[in-house]
Amino acid sequence: MAAQQHNDAELKDLYRELILDHARSPRHFGKLNNATHSADGINPLCGDKLHLYLQVGTNGTIEAASFEGSGCAISVASASLLTDSVIGLSRKDAVTFGDLVIGSLTGSPADAEQELGKLEALQGVKEFPSRVKCATLAWRALTSAINSNHQTVSTE
Ligand code: ZN
Repeated sequence: MAAQQHNDAELKDLYRELILDHARSPRHFGKLNNATHSADGINPLCGDKLHLYLQVGTNGTIEAASFEGSGCAISVASASLLTDSVIGLSRKDAVTFGDLVIGSLTGSPADAEQELGKLEALQGVKEFPSRVKCATLAWRALTSAINSNHQTVSTE
């Protein structure tokens, strides 16, 4: 990967740009009319609110994903990256990937880095513990949506 040729500071800049890009121009933003699964997530600490929509096909593959809501740059970028990442995955793989992302931000499994791909960009928030909940909010909503337990996920 080209990114490995950059030093740490350059890498951080690239990640910051990726986060800002997704925060300014969220992908898959808006209501998904054919959604089969959805969940709300709120992070009272920061004021982040989002509603995640998934369209799961009959074969169990996530065919579409979108989100609505408002929040800080980190929460919006994380939700945007999420929708980009889970389309095409099976429900099971999406939950596994979500657990990996949440684990990397909260528990930091040593072998996670190779598999995170561009979600590596979120790792910078670990320097700001209060922002970790902003970054994990959408991923917690993802698990809730897939499990269809229709509960609002709150970080508090
Ligand atoms: Zn936030």
